[in-house]
This record gives sequence, C-alpha cells and structure tokens, in this order.
Amino acid sequence: MSQRADVAIVGAGIMGLAHAYAAASRGLQVVVFERSRQASGASVRNFGMIWPIGQPHGRMHQLALRSREHWVQVLEQAQLPYRPDGSLLVVYREDEAAVAREFVELSADLGYACEWLPRDQVLARSRAKAHGLIGGLWSPTELTVDPRVTLAALPRFLHDRFGVETRFGRAVSRIDLPTVQAGDESWLVDYVIVCSGDDFESLYPAIFATSGLTRVKLQMLRTAPQPKEWQLGPALAAGLTLRFYSAFDVCSTLPRLRDRIASETPEYDRWAIHGLVSETAGGELTLGDSHEYGESVDVFNRGDADELILALSLGTTILRETFGLWTPTYFTQATGMTAAEAASNSAWFPFFGGISVMLCGYLSDRLGGGGRAALMVGGLGLATVALLVLAFGWLPASRTWPAILVAAVAFLTIGPYSFLAGAMAVDFGGKQGSGTASGLIDGVGYLGGVVSGDSVARLSIRYGWSGAFLFLASMAFLSCVAAGVLLRHERRCR
Ligand SMILES: Cc1cc2nc3c(=O)[nH]c(=O)nc-3n(C[C@H](O)[C@H](O)[C@H](O)COP(=O)(O)OP(=O)(O)OC[C@H]3O[C@@H](n4cnc5c(N)ncnc54)[C@H](O)[C@@H]3O)c2cc1C
Repeated sequence: MSQRADVAIVGAGIMGLAHAYAAASRGLQVVVFERSRQASGASVRNFGMIWPIGQPHGRMHQLALRSREHWVQVLEQAQLPYRPDGSLLVVYREDEAAVAREFVELSADLGYACEWLPRDQVLARSRAKAHGLIGGLWSPTELTVDPRVTLAALPRFLHDRFGVETRFGRAVSRIDLPTVQAGDESWLVDYVIVCSGDDFESLYPAIFATSGLTRVKLQMLRTAPQPKEWQLGPALAAGLTLRFYSAFDVCSTLPRLRDRIASETPEYDRWAIHGLVSETAGGELTLGDSHEYGESVDVFNRGDADELILALSLGTTILRETFGLWTPTYFTQATGMTAAEAASNSAWFPFFGGISVMLCGYLSDRLGGGGRAALMVGGLGLATVALLVLAFGWLPASRTWPAILVAAVAFLTIGPYSFLAGAMAVDFGGKQGSGTASGLIDGVGYLGGVVSGDSVARLSIRYGWSGAFLFLASMAFLSCVAAGVLLRHERRCR
C-alpha cells in the first residue's frame, strides 16, 4: 500500500537535506529517499567550507550570506561542531598582493567585509607559512563544517525536530506524480525535488542531457588528525585561488596574475588547480584541489597506482593463462604421465584456484582495501618460490610433486588475480568508473593471454620446461614487487 507525504526528495546529500529542512520548516510533511545506506556523494567528500567570499558581488553573494545564516542556525540547533574562524587568503607574490589589495579597496562598495592584513598579523592569526609571506586578505564570514559528521547527523535532527522521514537504501526508480517508486516502497506525494548529485542517468536523462550541466572531478587530500594543541586558525586559501572564484573578477589587476600563472605553470590552468586548506572538527586537514571537467572524467585517480594495477593484471594473467594452456602438456612431457593422468591432474589447478578466490574474497572483505595488496604480495611471493622449485627441479623424482606444486601455484595466484578486475577496479575506478576500470584491467590482462600462448611455447622449445618456469617465476616476482609498491602507496594514502 502507498504511503503519503507532501514532498518527496531524491538524495540525502546536502542539497536534499537543505530542501527537506526548508520544506519541513514551513510545516510540510517530507520524505527523503537515499539510495545508499548513508549519503555518499560530493557532500561527504568536500572541504566543508561555507565560503561567501568566493561568490560574485550582488545577488549570489547575498544568497551565500543568507545560506551562511541558515547553516549557523541549523548547526546550533543540531548541536553540531563548526569553526566560525573566517578565512585568510595568504599572498606570497606581488601580483597576488595587488589583486588582494584592490579587492579590499572595492569591497566596502561591493558588500564584502574584508581587510588587508600585513605579514605579522597574518602570522599572529594562522599557521600560514612565514617564508616569503607578504600579507593576506582576511574575511570573517567563512565557516568550516565537518561534512561527514554533519551529513550523518542531519537526517536524525530533521526527523526529531520536524518529523522528516529519511529512507536510506531506497533508490527512486520512477516518478509519475503523484506516485514515487523508491525501492520496494510506493509513495503518494504532491511534489518531488530531485537532488541526485551527479547521477544524470537514472532520472530524467533527457533533461540533464540538454541542461548544460557537466561533471567535475576534484582531487584533494585529507591528513590524519593534527595534535590537539595545533589549530589551523582561519581556513586558508592561496593566491592561486584569486583566479578561481569569480568574486575577484572585478579586479583590474587580475589578468596580470592570470597571465603569469598561464606562462609559469600552465598545468595549474589545465587542471584548474588552486589552494585551499580547511580543518575538520576532529583536527584533520583537507588540502586541495584540482578540477577535471567532462561528461566522463578519467576513472582513475592520477598517480602510480593505475600503472601498477595494470602491470599486476598483465603479470598474473600470464601466470593463469600459461597454466590453463600448458599444464597437461607439461605433465605428459616432463613427468611421463599418460594423457588421461595429465588431464585429471590438471583439474587441480582450477580446483585450488577456486578455493583461493573464495578465501581471498573473504579475507579481503575482512582486511579492507590495503589488505588486498598485502594478500597479493604474500601469494605472489610464495608462488615465485614454488615456480623456482619447478624451474630448477628441486623435487624428489615423482609424478606427485609437480602436480602438488602446480596446485600450490593456483592457490597462491588465482585469488590475488581475481581482485584485479573486481574489487580493485572498484577501489580505483570508484562506483561510477568501475566498469571502465575493470574493462581496462581485463583488457591489459588479455595481452598476458597472448604472451602465455606464444612466448611460453617458444621458451619451452628453446630452453625446456626449466626455462619456461624460470620465466614464470620472474613474472610472479615482478608482480610481487608491483604489489609491494602498491601496498606502500596505499599505506601512504591512508
Ligand atoms: C572535492 C570537493 C570539494 C568541495 N568543497 C566544497 C566546499 O568546501 N564548499 C562547498 O560549498 N561546496 C564544496 N563542494 C561542492 C559540494 O560538495 C557539492 O556541490 C554538494 O555536495 C552537492 O550536493 P548534492 O546533494 O547536490 O549532491 P550529492 O552530495 O552527490 O548527493 C546526491 C545524493 O543523491 C543520491 N541519489 C542519486 N540518485 C538517487 C536516486 N535515484 N534515488 C535515491 N538517491 C539518489 C546519491 O546517492 C547521493 O547521496 C565540493 C565538492 C567536491 C567534490
């Protein structure tokens, strides 16, 4: 049976919750639908900066100041932490100082409450780097909130104060007013407000397609909590930020700054890089950021990890495919098994591979993202030893030992191999890019298939099975090294 509300909202990001607040505080009955178990979009991955000074003067700036008032009201009512510390745009170059000073001169007429601070006053208020500092643009109107804490707490606050229902884990799949279908629930409502973030595909794709909206990917860094006695002070922006927010477009000195950045560091323009630092309630610093615009932005975060994963895919696929193709031939040629014995002993490879996939899947869920790379290091390291034993024939003369070692290689490599186009594709491509990431990883893996078919045949003819296993041991060793570098990379990123 259908349930009823005045207003349905799609998405429990900040836009959805803000609309829920606005509607519920006018006395309307509101239900919010969120497809995830908790808000997981841009609203929990940002600087938490309420930043009126960035908005162009006039209507947008006035709107931003009003929004700030609402924020303070809600944060106070919900007893949520925030830092009303204002902002400091710190300046280290003369052309940046010229823009900041000009903006201060214009600010009274434009409605901004900001002032120019000389170097020693900037240092008295903040942790800005002293070396080369000229001064700063101080503005008292900025706030910092903790996005994750705030987004997790607001649904409860809205429920307790206004009776707003938030239905987590329910994706809205169809809107046909007055009916809204969300997961297994059907609701009758008067209005629907769609706040679905960057999901342009699920609802109203045709409208989004002609809206002129596009995606943007931002990259930032979040540190571990700083010691309790360490405080950032006001949120910081760098001189680069002057060219980023349109508030500063009124300055006649801005084009000179823009020209200098374009000629000195064109990559800053290419990736729309500027500098911001904010501090969460828990003392973590968020630093950033870069901007990549486009309908389908690069699925990987930039860095060495992409290449490492592709290298791992190549190495482990060579191992898997070689054993898949050549094990029966090896058993008959090298150990004297009959064709029937070779075929039945070869079945141990997929059998132990399957056990390995299940075990690694279970362990990886328990250990998390970093655990996957650690399991790969362990598995591929031990596989290298097993392959060296096969290469150098350090075995008692029997038919059983080669079969046991081949099964061991399956157990040690197939689980780690299975991470690549599955869980690791999601780690590195994210929810949205995981399909492409998995395609890329798998695609590179197929190159490994080609190598295993052709090159291993040539090697075994030229150097015998010892040469082929030595080649495979080197592949396992190199993959193990790549997994080790990936592990270190992931530990550094955490
Ligand atoms: C790195 C970064 C830093 C930023 N820093 C700042 C900052 O400091 N200050 C600032 O003001 N802005 C900042 N922004 C911008 C700000 O974070 C976004 O504008 C804002 O979070 C957008 O909120 P939203 O609710 O529209 O989208 P989202 O937060 O993406 O929320 C959309 C929600 O809708 C849900 N959803 C989608 N489709 C459905 C469906 N069919 N059914 C049910 N649920 C659905 C999604 O699961 C998601 O939870 C930053 C953005 C980024 C990426």
